[in-house]
Formats: sequence, structure tokens, C-alpha cells
Amino acid sequence: MKVVVVGANHAGTAAINTILNEYPENQVTVFDQNSNISFLGCGMALWIGKQISSAQGLFYSSAEAMEEKGATVHMNTEVTEIDYENRVVHAKGADGTEYAEPYDKLILATGSRPIWPNLPGMDLENVQAVKQFQHAQEVIDKLESDKIQQVTVVGAGYIGVELAEAFVRNGRKTRLVDCADTCLSGYYDSDFCQRMADHMAAHGVEMCFGEKVLELQGENGAVKKVVTSKGTYDTDMVVFAIGFVPNSALGGEHLQLQRGAYLVDRTQKTSDPNVYAVGDCATIYNNAKERTDYIALATNAVRSGILAAHNACGTVLESPGVQGSNGISIWGLNMFSTGLTKQKAEAEGMDVLTTECTDWQKAAFMEHGNTKTTVRIVYRKDTRAIVGAQLVSDYDVSMGIHLFSLAIQQKLTIDQLKLLDLFFLPHFNQPYNYITMAALNAE
Ligand SMILES: Cc1cc2nc3c(=O)[nH]c(=O)nc-3n(C[C@H](O)[C@H](O)[C@H](O)COP(=O)(O)OP(=O)(O)OC[C@H]3O[C@@H](n4cnc5c(N)ncnc54)[C@H](O)[C@@H]3O)c2cc1C
Repeated sequence: MKVVVVGANHAGTAAINTILNEYPENQVTVFDQNSNISFLGCGMALWIGKQISSAQGLFYSSAEAMEEKGATVHMNTEVTEIDYENRVVHAKGADGTEYAEPYDKLILATGSRPIWPNLPGMDLENVQAVKQFQHAQEVIDKLESDKIQQVTVVGAGYIGVELAEAFVRNGRKTRLVDCADTCLSGYYDSDFCQRMADHMAAHGVEMCFGEKVLELQGENGAVKKVVTSKGTYDTDMVVFAIGFVPNSALGGEHLQLQRGAYLVDRTQKTSDPNVYAVGDCATIYNNAKERTDYIALATNAVRSGILAAHNACGTVLESPGVQGSNGISIWGLNMFSTGLTKQKAEAEGMDVLTTECTDWQKAAFMEHGNTKTTVRIVYRKDTRAIVGAQLVSDYDVSMGIHLFSLAIQQKLTIDQLKLLDLFFLPHFNQPYNYITMAALNAE
């Protein structure tokens, strides 16, 4: 059987490697329009902020590694059209070479692209997108010049917040602008967001919330001012991190879309039984919302790539769905969430309650490294099923969020959490654990 994969970043790489490792009898042909594979965008802010010394470790695969395992890989080659009826992929290389590649099964892993608003001044120099390795390299090259003193980051989601920290760490005067009234509002309730906003302000980030960017103005072709609904600010670089849209143009009229992404079932199959879609270009089932959703995360990309590979090769494997689990760590303040915030649950029309607890992380007699942690759990009034959780601490409480992710997936109720067996060791936590206490305190 011949499998063609379009796009070889995280989702594509996961699919390709799964087929090559577990179903080596199949032929795999890969097309990617980029020159590199598997760039970990999550390392971009760490690189810009000089928390890592180079981008060398930000790649975990390559065309050569895939070819060694038997794939045929065409980099710098854009897939321009797909003839779904005759099952042929048409592509064109940067060198002009044209391809017409037949397939038995097709995996679309074309990902997403940054939203690029249509504002005056977007074509000025030093107005940057952030997605690919090339974008990060360009920003870093420009930061070599002391002409870039002030940076404006537009969009206070997790990428914008991470980048704002990175530019301050890089020695730049940094402003974070968002039309929402706080940062991270897609992931945390407003009091949690405020804690991060205060923390960032204390580290020198100028926070401009409730401001819509209207225009960029330049001098000698380079951006110099950003005009918002509330004021005009001097700037030498503007970075847009206002979200991503799925790359789904190749579906044409043939493949069904939802919110612009390829609509897939639990096996990653699209509306064409020979075509699978994975990662940022595809929908995903959200267990907290109990409906199909769009959540662009590398974690989802990798899992969906693995799923599609098995299903395309004949092993039926269904996705258990996701909760959109995520985390962020900014100047030592760690926040993690999964499922829905109270505000998001209510926006979904759910009647929810919350319960929370703030306590010392470790036993009170621990003399060093003790810090307070807050957990908030969101659950439905009717079924009492847990639909979301948020954690904030200076301590690394990242592993705690996995418990809530599983709880949401398995539709655990808040009452089932009350006497759950949680271990105790003074180095790490307390016998009256804040998770137990939050559950016991639930209405
Ligand atoms: C700065 C930043 C930080 C992030 N941090 C995190 C994080 O901490 N945790 C997390 O889970 N996620 C994070 N993400 C999100 C994560 O990077 C994406 O969800 C992930 O890249 C999606 O992978 P993908 O393979 O589906 O798509 P993409 O990475 O978008 O890759 C798609 C590939 O398809 C190729 N392609 C597209 N169209 C064509 C075509 N017509 N022909 C040929 N090739 C084509 C592209 O060249 C590309 O290589 C971050 C993203 C960014 C930008």
C-alpha cells in the first residue's frame, strides 16, 4: 500500500514514523513545502530569551532520518492540488520539479498559519509572525542590532505571554497588547489571569489590555509606532501572536470542514474514507465540551498523527478525545489548566460550580522550598462531572494537571475525587492534600 503524507512537522512526523516503524511493508512518500522538519516552536521564546544557547536541540527529526527508514521525502515542495477522484497528489518543488504522486491512503498534516490581520502598516520592516524556525531566526538576527530597543507583542495568549518574557530577558523594553481585559483569558478564570498579569508587570512588561491594534506607522520603511484604540506607542518591532488558522485549502470542495479545519472522526478519517487529517489542520473531540472542537497544540498533533497512521494501515484505533491540557511557566510562576474554566463552561451553556483550595505545597515543617499552591476545580451542577481544573504555584505542580485531564476524560464526578488515594511525602505535599481538600469542600 502507498501512503502519501502532506506536511512533515509534528503531526506528519508522528504519522510517518509510526508507519515506517510499525508497518514497514508500506511505501511512504512525504511532501513538505518547508526546508526543515519538526521545529519545536515551544522553544522559540526560550531561544529569544537566551534561556537556551542555540536552536540546535529544537529539532528531533529530519528528512534524512525518514529516508534512512525507507520513506521518500520531498522537502521544499508544495502540494498544489489533490485529485481525490483518481487519488493523485500534485506538487511542485522550489526547483520547478513537478510531481503527480498516486496514493492508496492520504494523510493531510498541513498544520496552521499565524493570523495576519489586514491593518495599515503590516508590510513594514520588523513586523514579525511567529511560527516557523525561520521566523524565530529572523527575530533573533534583528535583535543583534541595538536599533531594536522596544518590542510590542500583540496577543496575550500563551505564545504572546512567553514572548513578552523572552524580549525582557533579551534586554528589550517590552509591551504586551491585547483587546481582552487580561492575559491567558482562553485558559484561566480572570483572577488566575490577573495573578500572571501582575507578575509580568512586576518584571517590567508594560501591559496594555482592552486595546485593539488599529494601525502600524513607520519611518524609512521600518515600523516605529503602534496605534491602538487607546493610544500611540513608540516601537521598533511588532510581533503578532493572535492565533492560528488551519491550512485546509487542499480540501477544496471535496472535504468537509468545521471552523475551517478538516472535520475528522475519532480515527482521524475525513469525509473521504481514503483521506486522514491530523494536527493543527484537523478538528478534535473535546471531552469537556462533549463536542468536536479545534485545539491547536503539539500534543494533539503527535497523538493524532499516531492514530491516523494505525488506522490508515488497517489497525482500528479510536481517539479518547482531549481536554486541551496546557501549561505555562513565566519567571517561575507556573500555571496549568485542563478542560473548561468557569467562564468558558458558562459560555458553553453549562451550569457549573467551582471549588478551590490554597495551601502550602509541602508539609509545614519543611524549612526550604515551600510555596503556596491554588487549585480550582470546575464541575457540572447536574451530573457533578468534573469539566475543568486550574493550578497555580511557584512550585512545579505540572504533574497534578494530568489527574484532572484523566478525570474529565473518564467523566469522574467531584464526589469520586473526595477520598481518592493521593500519596503523601513531606518533600512533595501534605497529608491533607489541597486536591483532596478542594474536593471535600465542594458544595
Ligand atoms: C511559538 C509557539 C509555541 C508553541 N508552544 C507549544 C507548547 O508549548 N505546547 C504545545 O502543545 N504546542 C505548542 N505550540 C503549538 C504547536 O507548535 C502546533 O500545535 C504544532 O506545530 C502543530 O503541528 P502540525 O504538524 O499539525 O502543524 P504545523 O507545525 O503547522 O506543520 C505543518 C507542516 O505542513 C507543511 N505544509 C503546509 N501546507 C503544505 C502544502 N500545501 N504542501 C506541503 N507542505 C505543506 C508546512 O510546511 C509544515 O511543515 C506552539 C506553537 C508556537 C508557534
